[in-house]
Amino acid sequence: MDWQKIVIHHTASPTEVQRSGKNVPVDAAMLREWHRTKGWSDIGYHFVIMPDGRCEEGRPLYRPGAHCNVGRRNHIGIGVCLVGNFSETEVPEAQINGLVTKVLQLMKAFKMSIEVVELHRDVPEAATECPGRYFPVDVFKKKLKEQNDAIR
Ligand SMILES: [Zn+2]
Repeated sequence: MDWQKIVIHHTASPTEVQRSGKNVPVDAAMLREWHRTKGWSDIGYHFVIMPDGRCEEGRPLYRPGAHCNVGRRNHIGIGVCLVGNFSETEVPEAQINGLVTKVLQLMKAFKMSIEVVELHRDVPEAATECPGRYFPVDVFKKKLKEQNDAIR
């Protein structure tokens, strides 16, 4: 794969669902199950950021994703997804921090600059609000820039 972009998403789902009367977290395993139910081969995202900031592995990076069907992003873009619906609620600070950490790792691993990081809705021709209207884009970009400058 020739990764040139990092595309940020949200699941637009609750962070927990009920299974047999118990609350279980929406995580990479559950998203994999949901996406396979749609007939996909695997979870569509490469990484999943949990509400507490932990990162779970999704689809392996040697395979194209299934997270953005315009602008060739499935082939050139690493898909990173936050669990939650940020059209309805705010993103927990721990989750933003976890996202920043993961994105910095990916930028470093693939020698990408900060300009490659984009929100799903900012991909040309993408008709979506993803990752949600409450996604704190200014805070995210500020933290990313600060930490990126700090490791140079
Ligand atoms: Zn998205």
